[in-house]
Amino acid sequence: MKYDVVIIGSGLGGLECAYILSKEGYNVCVLEKNRVLGGCLQTFSRCGTVFDTGMHYIGGMDEDQILYRLFEYFDLNRRLNLKRLDEDGYDIIRYDGRDYKFAMGYERFADTMIEQFPNDRIAIQKYVSKMKDIRDSVDLYNLENISSSNTSYLNYYGLSIADFLDSISGNEILKNVLAGLAPLYGGMRETSPLYIPMIIHSSYIEGAYRFIGGGSQLSDVLAESVTSFGGTILKKAEVTKIHHEHGRITNVEINHEERIEANHYISDIHPKTLLGLLDHGAFKPAYTKRINGIGETYGMFTVYLAMKENAFRYINKNFYCYHVKDLWRDFHYTDDIWPGGYMVHFSPVAENMEFTDAVIVNTIMRWEEVLPWVNTTVENRGEEYQAFKQRKTELIMRDLENDFPGIGHAVKFIYNSSPLTYRDYTGTWEGSVYGIQKDYNNPMKTLILPRTHLSNLFLTGQNINVHGVVGVTIGAFLTCSELLGKKHLMNKMKNVG
Ligand SMILES: Cc1cc2nc3c(=O)[nH]c(=O)nc-3n(C[C@H](O)[C@H](O)[C@H](O)COP(=O)(O)OP(=O)(O)OC[C@H]3O[C@@H](n4cnc5c(N)ncnc54)[C@H](O)[C@@H]3O)c2cc1C
Repeated sequence: MKYDVVIIGSGLGGLECAYILSKEGYNVCVLEKNRVLGGCLQTFSRCGTVFDTGMHYIGGMDEDQILYRLFEYFDLNRRLNLKRLDEDGYDIIRYDGRDYKFAMGYERFADTMIEQFPNDRIAIQKYVSKMKDIRDSVDLYNLENISSSNTSYLNYYGLSIADFLDSISGNEILKNVLAGLAPLYGGMRETSPLYIPMIIHSSYIEGAYRFIGGGSQLSDVLAESVTSFGGTILKKAEVTKIHHEHGRITNVEINHEERIEANHYISDIHPKTLLGLLDHGAFKPAYTKRINGIGETYGMFTVYLAMKENAFRYINKNFYCYHVKDLWRDFHYTDDIWPGGYMVHFSPVAENMEFTDAVIVNTIMRWEEVLPWVNTTVENRGEEYQAFKQRKTELIMRDLENDFPGIGHAVKFIYNSSPLTYRDYTGTWEGSVYGIQKDYNNPMKTLILPRTHLSNLFLTGQNINVHGVVGVTIGAFLTCSELLGKKHLMNKMKNVG
């Protein structure tokens, strides 16, 4: 059987493309190598406690905000079980022994920040105004057809977030607090473009929510819809080879056996993995060299805490706790200062519950730390790896106990994962947290477009636009516009109902 479209990978971008195209009448087939769909959306369960892996909170979800409107198109809003985070402080940056709150809504965010930094009113206003400018420069963010000659958003790729913060203030505390979200976008002083943190931060200011019961709801609901539109989703179907001829993909091989044919192909997998599946000569050497030369965002070491019943109060905020002075140095940690900081997320079991059953702690880990076990597979990495993870977990638990006294006593059991775990479950290159590292020094080098030189191959997912639920969803629309036309799709989105 020949499909209209084959989609490689069932991450958020892959499933959203499958939804859009199957709703538009295309005969779509999604191929997923794992037995669980969703890539980073996966949750896992240990002794009845559900843990998120790569989806802790989402932004832009207040009515009429960007994600809410996009999710209307996907018929997701009424089907997701969400909890709105505290609007007067949904994120807390704990820095230099003090808690700084980020509030929801641009005005409220600015007012709260000015209360906390009364001498930095102008710097804070400049920050908020830049955030709005950047948000407004993205046509899909506003569901408007901004003229295609308007490429002002590209300029923001060529500017540095760290330089921008230096330009608005000399107050090191304020700058570090504003840089406190860096782990949410793989932030690095040396590379991070102004564009990414501003898009991410503005989305959360426009309504931050957690999933009740885990982020895999997103993949479950999307997959169900794709199937109901007549689409096919194959699990345990790893694409092991992609064949091409005369500048077009001819078919893909799954599990080294069966071949599947389609008119069009969309790749939701890491572009470097994609290149490895194609025969030599599929792309010009310059393209291959460019893609393979892009660096990756850093990885995460994660500690998952299953909490005893009614033992630890649910906190309706995320914490970013730091013990280093210069947050941009966090990635350049040495053994004696690791972890320099970490993010803590508390899982809501139900809308009005008093206690949490799961706490997730993420901290930066460089790929080089796990190199000794790079050729191992899940569950078969040996005792030294277990001891390595145990040491790291103890260091995190030490800091966590300092920041949240008594938390250790409330823990029922602890589970952990390293960048190797992410690599092996979601296929991200070197276990990187958000895929490729966009680089303001050379924005065109790290910009990956949905269209490729193979005329029927398109790219989607976190590596082509911005990572995260908003970035990937906008990316899915950009990818599908290549087949359906941007105006057509924009009209469909605006006229849902
Ligand atoms: C620790 C962590 C925390 C995060 N927290 C948040 C958050 O709080 N909020 C937020 O918005 N975003 C968050 N993100 C980012 C977000 O999860 C991702 O940007 C997004 O889910 C990526 O979607 P994707 O479409 O790129 O696909 P991916 O999730 O990368 O999925 C790709 C899929 O392709 C499959 N695949 C790979 N190779 C093959 C092959 N050869 N054949 C078939 N299938 C293949 C994989 O198994 C996988 O299912 C987080 C990410 C991580 C890692």
